[in-house]
Amino acid sequence: MTLWTHYHTPSSLDDALALLQQYAGRARVIGGGTDLLLDIRHGTLTPPDALIDITAISELCEVTQDGNYLMLGAGVTHTRIVQDPLIAARATCLVESCGVVGGPQVRNVGTLGGNVAHALPAGDGTTSLVALDAEAEATIDGERRWLPIRELFVGPGQSLLDATRDVLIRFRIPLSNEREASAFKRIMRPQGVALPILGCATWVRLDPSGARFEDARVCIGPVAQVPARAGAVEAALRGQPIGAETVEAAVEAARSSLSPRTSKYRATATYRQEMIDVLLRRVLPLAAQRARTGEAVAEGVGLE
Ligand SMILES: Cc1cc2nc3c(=O)[nH]c(=O)nc-3n(C[C@H](O)[C@H](O)[C@H](O)COP(=O)(O)OP(=O)(O)OC[C@H]3O[C@@H](n4cnc5c(N)ncnc54)[C@H](O)[C@@H]3O)c2cc1C
Repeated sequence: MTLWTHYHTPSSLDDALALLQQYAGRARVIGGGTDLLLDIRHGTLTPPDALIDITAISELCEVTQDGNYLMLGAGVTHTRIVQDPLIAARATCLVESCGVVGGPQVRNVGTLGGNVAHALPAGDGTTSLVALDAEAEATIDGERRWLPIRELFVGPGQSLLDATRDVLIRFRIPLSNEREASAFKRIMRPQGVALPILGCATWVRLDPSGARFEDARVCIGPVAQVPARAGAVEAALRGQPIGAETVEAAVEAARSSLSPRTSKYRATATYRQEMIDVLLRRVLPLAAQRARTGEAVAEGVGLE
């Protein structure tokens, strides 16, 4: 079985784009290959003539701070994210989600850009990026553009980006400030390769007294065709006192607004619905506590 004929490792974005143009739809961008190679082997993707590996392009592998933003290259691996103290302290949910992707081998080569470009509604890194209100920079039709992360998702496994032509370059993520924090938790089936059942990322800002949620963002996946914010849950939190009653109001809002589906190998819709309750009861108090104390230590990373 021929999987591909040419493998290129350009060292600049311009070279990568020139190669994609040269192959005119017969080449495809590859990061760590942990999704792509399986798709080719399983026949869900026609083998391209060439693979364009973006992990030697320095711009796509940088992790820098620009004022209040974290700039994260699309070619940065999950392992590197997990090991970064700035990300752990100020974008904690991203470390917690990247830290449970696959096993160490997958995290060592799998990239955040690949997780996003694959566009699955249950992508762990993706779920946290949505809760963190990240933006993505990509070349689309040859033009560099910034766009809100949510605009990249068109359907399950369907990205706005065409990986035979477009390149996801980097992410811009607002870092948590005083009275702000985030948390991510996941329910999974720990048999052989862990099968994620449901993930939940939340970001909160407390009011100056530290007693109420001033603002909140919540992303739970998979509960829709694309990764999306849980608007009704967020509305149930805004302006409300921190405590069990508000968490239960958020749980109630989730029950009436979210409809997870049954997946043959993972879980029934009923089980997933109950797990949404469990996840919200875990992440909301945790994020609130981190925001109140200013101390965030990423939990559950790489322990599976
Ligand atoms: C055993 C195993 C366990 C896994 N467990 C998890 C898990 O627990 N949670 C989870 O979320 N995922 C999991 N995954 C899926 C996968 O590892 C992640 O989604 C990973 O982040 C994909 O990144 P990658 O660099 O390997 O992507 P690749 O496989 O290289 O690419 C994925 C897709 O994105 C495109 N692409 C990649 N980079 C770019 C770019 N910069 N610009 C444009 N297009 C691009 C490719 O063309 C391809 O279509 C698992 C995979 C395996 C094999």
